[in-house]
Amino acid sequence: MKPIMMTVDLTTGTSQITPVDELFDTYLGGTGAATKLLTDEIALNKDPYAPPSPVFFAIGPFNGLYPLCTKTVALFISPLTGNLGESHAGGNLAMALFQAGIHILKITGRSAFPCYVRIVNHEVSIHRAYSLKGMSALASERVLRERIGNTWKSSIMRVGPAGERESPIACVTVDTSRHFGRLGLGGVFGNKNLKAVIVSGNGGIELGSNKGRYLKFYKNLYDQFVHSPALSKYHDLGTSMNILPLSRINGLPTRNFSQGFFEGAASISGERFADQLLIQKIACAHCPVGCIHMAILRESFDEKNHQYKANKIAYDYELIYALGSNLSINSPEDVLRLLLLIEKQGWDAISMGVTLAWSTEAFMKGVITTRETGGLVFKFGDADTYERILRRVIEGDMEFYRDVEKGTAFLAEKYGGESFAITFGRNEAPGYMTGLHGFLGFSTGVRHSHLDSAGYSLDQKKSEIEKPAREWTEDLFREGRWRTVLNSLVICLFARNVFTMPTILEGLAALGMTTWDEEKLQELARKIHVMKYELKNTLGFSFDRERLPEKLTSVFTATGLLDEAEYRQQMRIFEDLLAKDARALT
Ligand code: SF4
Repeated sequence: MKPIMMTVDLTTGTSQITPVDELFDTYLGGTGAATKLLTDEIALNKDPYAPPSPVFFAIGPFNGLYPLCTKTVALFISPLTGNLGESHAGGNLAMALFQAGIHILKITGRSAFPCYVRIVNHEVSIHRAYSLKGMSALASERVLRERIGNTWKSSIMRVGPAGERESPIACVTVDTSRHFGRLGLGGVFGNKNLKAVIVSGNGGIELGSNKGRYLKFYKNLYDQFVHSPALSKYHDLGTSMNILPLSRINGLPTRNFSQGFFEGAASISGERFADQLLIQKIACAHCPVGCIHMAILRESFDEKNHQYKANKIAYDYELIYALGSNLSINSPEDVLRLLLLIEKQGWDAISMGVTLAWSTEAFMKGVITTRETGGLVFKFGDADTYERILRRVIEGDMEFYRDVEKGTAFLAEKYGGESFAITFGRNEAPGYMTGLHGFLGFSTGVRHSHLDSAGYSLDQKKSEIEKPAREWTEDLFREGRWRTVLNSLVICLFARNVFTMPTILEGLAALGMTTWDEEKLQELARKIHVMKYELKNTLGFSFDRERLPEKLTSVFTATGLLDEAEYRQQMRIFEDLLAKDARALT
């Protein structure tokens, strides 16, 4: 199957197919191919909310064919940061794109009316979506599935009301509880008047003479996933198993990163969620692990007559941090109650949690008062008030509440309180307070995410391995660079230790892609990594301007107090390593 790009132009209502085999020969696919495409486009436009601003959804050569190669990468200009927007989501989407024979889906333009796009194989239709306007991200999926009369094989991406309001912290929800969560893709959908995209197909590939090799490799891979203890932990408690150990080492952000130990950690631990609220574990299409943990939350809609609605909500570590410890909430039901509202609206839960935490500290410090909050008194641990805040944001009845859904950096710039705004490159911080290399990873990462280079995991190794900070920075750099290859194959990063260099080469060869070798893959990693920073620089990023939130220089992390001079020095080392790679490429 030759890779193709499907372009849907919402302004003209047209679509077009372009072969992208040369692009895939050079960049493998996924993030590599999409970064090249976005780089070419930003020469023409840098405004995330200009109609021609494109969104690229890309898969790679392994998607649809190997287990845990389940992700789709979205690239766009982020309305939250004004810089590179990159987000990855699972669910059925990668499989649906593969079956539709589409390797890159490009969406551009702005529809004159609220719309949703339906793609079946290579057929594209654009439909009016007036009746879906204002509908929650959860309900829109149900309605659209009924409307298309099908089947869980179709993948449905959609936004909730937050995306329609063009909130830069709005996400795009994919199928059951998967998200293009970070960096505001939902706001871009809203700006394009795009409520949803549905993808399905019934194609596949002919393996021909590679079939025997493919099946042998597949079985080997599958066995590793099913029997590996490294992956069984994701099925057992899931990532929420990290709550207790991180709190124990002082690495769990609590009350807007005031400390790394949460006294209520046991009450919102993965163990507690599993014992009391877990009802189901589900998986992305083509994954035998199944790490998606669904909890049940009972919602009363008629107390007098004991009428309840049962809601199923996915939870994981990041969500529990953002709406639990970081807001000092120690009841799993309260965490789920806030999460349900956030899921319905379609906000990124990490961004909204950090923004609520900043708002609370801003209130406690007098940066905002009851004048801005309309009488509400913000307090850490007060779930009822947080719910009221979210409802007022939805109503948009006061300036401050309309501003809340613009994110932490926006609020801090407008009202003051930048010293305790916990953002990196304007993106709200993920849930790790492990120390220097965790924070350095957020600062230097191409999307300012813990998933870029996993510096938090390096910090946790420091208690066992002693070496100079420079060497940890080199590890961080190499990890971020290598992940560009994993993200061009668009694998689930939980499988990163299985998809080693030899395994990837074997997997490519089993698909007849025998021209790749170790040297070429390393060279590709370097090339994509450098290209991403060049793209970021064009959009205004610079290592010099990147700032550590001031508050983080005075709090104890899992590896002690942070030295800002050391942070700056390691930043320069990272920048030098990148410059060296760039020179090697020329
Ligand atoms: S391990 Fe989890 S996130 Fe990864 S592919 Fe499987 S279900 Fe999806």
